[in-house]
Amino acid sequence: MSQQRSEITKAATRRLPARIKREMKTVEAMIQIYCHYHHKSNDALCQQCQELKQYAGLRLEKCTFQEEKPTCGQCPIHCYKPAMREKIKEVMRFSGPRMIMYHPLLAIMHLIDKKRSNI
Ligand SMILES: [Zn+2]
Repeated sequence: MSQQRSEITKAATRRLPARIKREMKTVEAMIQIYCHYHHKSNDALCQQCQELKQYAGLRLEKCTFQEEKPTCGQCPIHCYKPAMREKIKEVMRFSGPRMIMYHPLLAIMHLIDKKRSNI
């Protein structure tokens, strides 16, 4: 397990709702796919993506909705600062459709979460 991964694992073991932990895993996976394709990284993320991942993790930890969190695309509060928001949008646009190949379980859970917040 690389250095970068263990940080998120640490964050995930803190007392956070399952919903938030799952989002952390999803966003981390998406950044990893994006970084691998765009910045030719292998196991570890490049500096820029590492920062984005940490930022995303922090936003999730501080998310007001916690267990009730809608998917970020559906959220009424846009909590990212503009520069980070642009970056994460690009990552999601690229990695979103690829999640089903790389992380089918997370992709399916995301669809369920999306459906749930529609009700
Ligand atoms: Zn990168």
